[in-house]
Amino acid sequence: MSLDYILTKMNNNTIQTNIDAIRDAVPEHVTLVAVSKTQPLDVIASAYAEGIRDFGENRVAELVEKADAFPDDIRWHAIGHLQTNKAKVVAPLSHLVHAVDSTRIYEALAQHKNPKPLDVLLQVHIAEESSKFGFLEDELRALLALSGDGNETFGNTSIRIKGLMGMATYTKDTAQIAKEFKGLRSLFEELAPSMGADFDTLSMGMSGDWNIAIDEGSTMIRVGSAIFGARH
Ligand SMILES: *Cc1c(COP(=O)(O)O)cnc(C)c1O
Repeated sequence: MSLDYILTKMNNNTIQTNIDAIRDAVPEHVTLVAVSKTQPLDVIASAYAEGIRDFGENRVAELVEKADAFPDDIRWHAIGHLQTNKAKVVAPLSHLVHAVDSTRIYEALAQHKNPKPLDVLLQVHIAEESSKFGFLEDELRALLALSGDGNETFGNTSIRIKGLMGMATYTKDTAQIAKEFKGLRSLFEELAPSMGADFDTLSMGMSGDWNIAIDEGSTMIRVGSAIFGARH
């Protein structure tokens, strides 16, 4: 047995243990997205072997390469900030785009012509850090008030607004994190009645805060390092 083989084995066992632990703690109505950005194909393959089918990527080139390498039953989640010129590539590969953070990217994604509407989440800026992307709450309210039902936003039928996404401040202050998630959830609930039945997804929670997010009403968590270890 080579050292490489042993190390790979160890790594795979860790991934299995991590996935099992998270699954045990996550209620059934919450979808676990394994964030595989920067992880090589063999690492993704071990999560796939554990039954994971939802994977999150934040770079377009990586998404393209990985989507090509793996079976079609994987649901790829585009979780990173997108440039409008990448919309055409991302739309047909993505099960769900989490990071629609401007009207421009929304409109760029809406131009794609697939038989099935593209599912997207609107990213809301909830953190104290200015570095994080997303609509301000008031911007989002104004935008959706103008457009009415989510399926007809900006007069478009090739895109479907499934819900909201947000990232909390990177801090040890769990009360602060809970407050930010609570705010996103109440915005979600305020908007839901006018958005239709498709509006059912609240993507919040990462490795450091997914348990807080679930307590605050998350329906989808995006977990990377707590499954795969540190990123490459
Ligand atoms: C990287 C990333 C994650 C996962 O981060 P971890 O802390 O490793 O779980 C989740 N969401 C987004 C938008 C990311 O970019």
